[in-house]
Amino acid sequence: MLFLSVSLQSILSKNMTFKELGLKSEVLKSLTEMGFEAPTPIQLEAIPNLLASDSDLVGLAQTGTGKTAAFGLPLVNKVDGKSRTPQGLVVCPTRELCLQITKDLENYSKYLDLSVVAVYGGADIRRQITQINKGVSIVVATPGRLVDLIKRKSISLADVKYVVLDEADEMLNMGFKEDLDMILESTPEHRNVWLFSATMPKEVERIAKTYMSNPFEVSIGHKNQSNENIEHIYYSVKERDRYAALKRVIDFNPEIYGLIFCRTRMETASVADKLGKEGYSAEPLHGDLSQVQRDRVMDRFRKKEIQILVATDVAARGLDIDNITHVLNYNLPDDIENYTHRSGRTARAGKKGQSIVLINTRENYKIRTIEKQIRVTFTAGVLPKPEDICAIQLTKLIDSVIQTEVKEADIEKFMPQIMAGFGEMTKEEIVKRFVSAEFNRFIDYYSNAGDLNSSGRDSDRGERGDRGDRGDRNDRGRRDRSYDEGREDRPRRDRGSEEGKTRFFVSVGQRDGLNPGGLLRLICDSTGLKSGNIGKIDIMPAFSFFEADQAETDNILRKVNGSEYEGTTVNIEITKNKGGGSDRGGRSGGGGGFGGGNRRASGGSGGFRGSNDRGGDRDRSGDREGFRPRSERSGSDRGERGSSERGSGERRSGGFGRSSSSFRGK
Ligand code: AMP
Repeated sequence: MLFLSVSLQSILSKNMTFKELGLKSEVLKSLTEMGFEAPTPIQLEAIPNLLASDSDLVGLAQTGTGKTAAFGLPLVNKVDGKSRTPQGLVVCPTRELCLQITKDLENYSKYLDLSVVAVYGGADIRRQITQINKGVSIVVATPGRLVDLIKRKSISLADVKYVVLDEADEMLNMGFKEDLDMILESTPEHRNVWLFSATMPKEVERIAKTYMSNPFEVSIGHKNQSNENIEHIYYSVKERDRYAALKRVIDFNPEIYGLIFCRTRMETASVADKLGKEGYSAEPLHGDLSQVQRDRVMDRFRKKEIQILVATDVAARGLDIDNITHVLNYNLPDDIENYTHRSGRTARAGKKGQSIVLINTRENYKIRTIEKQIRVTFTAGVLPKPEDICAIQLTKLIDSVIQTEVKEADIEKFMPQIMAGFGEMTKEEIVKRFVSAEFNRFIDYYSNAGDLNSSGRDSDRGERGDRGDRGDRNDRGRRDRSYDEGREDRPRRDRGSEEGKTRFFVSVGQRDGLNPGGLLRLICDSTGLKSGNIGKIDIMPAFSFFEADQAETDNILRKVNGSEYEGTTVNIEITKNKGGGSDRGGRSGGGGGFGGGNRRASGGSGGFRGSNDRGGDRDRSGDREGFRPRSERSGSDRGERGSSERGSGERRSGGFGRSSSSFRGK
């Protein structure tokens, strides 16, 4: 495989223009209109190569590098608009990305006579078939829906000359392996495949080996290395301080336009809920929301009506938004590759950004594993001191007061009342009161707040009480297997495999009609395992536990999660590996549930409002972004996985600074 590693420096010195790359004048015209002046490094490498020859390509690049144009421009340039059947086929993991790519291709080909059609799950298939029948030059598709169309013989791929696989690693992560094989096998043997991926796991290499011949490779940076414009920082805190630490990071960055990543739907909902209740402009994005709700939240985030999006990895797929200043890893992802995807949401299109990780005191090894695996360097951050946060917020407040537009004509008639109201007060007193009206909550909240850094003083009375977050499964002794690969210094007793079993929490119980036999059947039917692989089963009134062979953990998580038991969606998660620690407190108690109870941030009377968690109910509302067993998924909905109509409800409108001018938008 010919490997062209692209150094930014060498590219910039080339100073080339789009015109010199050999694009048609019609394409150049639309690029000028779009404001694209100079090619990005990946465009510079890919475009002339793809234009000059009919060859296969492997592009190692993340979103934000300009990869859509790197394949999209040659594609619209090469495809023959007169053809009625698709010559170009772009396959990508999510509906959002599918729509984005379609829009981009339409923009690039504005002055060419081409038609681009998007086909994705969750939308009316008949309309898509009608569009295809009208004649189409390029189809942009999610794998599940495309397979449906192929099986129905509603699309012919016989004339396809170029297949683009975008975010190939994501598609494989999402379980589209068989679909991709089928799609590629349905295209002519001599088509070219252009494969783009942020990382190069074995499965992606397999696709390259199976379906491509002598591809040239373009890479931005090293393999599996993330963008140099991203600053990676981690903060080590006690588990119980995780949420308070998150707030400190946000409070210290009042202009933040950020994405908080959580590992589970439940955690996502909980963090967003708490932030919302405490006056932050934050909304959740996870698979329990309907597609309409997710579209609405994303749209508002895009328009910056929401400052912070709290998302699961799955829900945030395809969310390509420029200008994100911070990616906050509330918890690290189980799969290290997801860290690359998460952090790649910031520092797009040449901008700088921070990827911040909150870890508990036992998770330092995870940072080292990520550093080794994706070749990034983390800085050990020190959480800002309360007084520094207050100073920043005060500056922000003063700035926003100074910048407030005074509606002279309208306020004039109120001036006598205003002047009379403040009576004899001096200017200083009035200013003090105005500032206090807004700023007291910071003073109150942070007045007794101590040092949250794990080595710091354990005295932050103001920020405790966030114990609803104590459900972190990794603070109790279990280590994450994916972070342990290649780790030699790990003590034997930590491996959690002495007894070889993993213990799972199941979101359904006796009240849902579940009994041990039913649970056993469910697990075995979904996974293909035998009863011998399954250990102890405990059926509780509202939920259950079971143990299973540790080697099957991933298989079980993937296949059982999201399956149905008598009409109820089943969500499971690991509670512990046998011998590796205790269950999570809230769960095993049965009554209170995870994160239950009335939590108050005791920052003082005028401080942040506490939040009343939904307690036990939350336990049952679904957790990980799970996979339904393939047998139960219709091809067309796989692209839209996780968008059950249950929906946790559209949250009240946020907007920058719902309750505080400190968070008001730019
Ligand atoms: P992508 O990596 O394809 O998602 O692109 C990231 C962002 O960069 C998108 O907003 C593109 O419109 C923008 N972009 C891509 N190439 C260029 C370019 N050559 N000049 C300016 N903006 C670009």
